[in-house]
Amino acid sequence: MATNRTFTMIKPDAVEAGHIGGIINMITEGGFKIVAMKLTQLTVRDAQKFYEVHKERPFYGELVEFMSRGPIVAAILEKENAVEDFRKLIGATNPAEAAEGTIRKKYAKSIGENAVHGSDSDENAAIESAFHFAGREQF
Ligand code: ADP
Ligand code: MG
Repeated sequence: MATNRTFTMIKPDAVEAGHIGGIINMITEGGFKIVAMKLTQLTVRDAQKFYEVHKERPFYGELVEFMSRGPIVAAILEKENAVEDFRKLIGATNPAEAAEGTIRKKYAKSIGENAVHGSDSDENAAIESAFHFAGREQF
């Protein structure tokens, strides 16, 4: 799998608040090319599976409920050094700690409802991309 790709979701809080356009604009202005994208909704089972690594954490139930409560935008992004550069663009998990100019600083409401997801490694980017997109949906 190419190492110049990462996976993102615009989470239900940001979709509900009408921030799809603003967030996509920050992504493209940040130099990322969109190579897959769709509006979709996770079932409870999908969210449990996607966040399985967090299943022992105290916020897991809350996270699954949040991520399945409404539509999300799922996308695959391409750029040199995509995983690391996108984590920089989204900012810290907790928006109170997110740097100026980051997506979470601008759009996140709380540590749980934090507007966007970004893969944390090339390996997870590939797994998460395959979870959401068939090969024929990736350009
Ligand atoms: P990140 O999304 O920055 O990689 P994590 O992988 O640690 O953060 O956590 C996954 C998601 O779980 C976060 O984006 C957030 O939605 C939620 N989350 C993380 N920590 C908490 C917390 N302390 N309370 C509630 N939800 C949390
Ligand atoms: Mg993470």
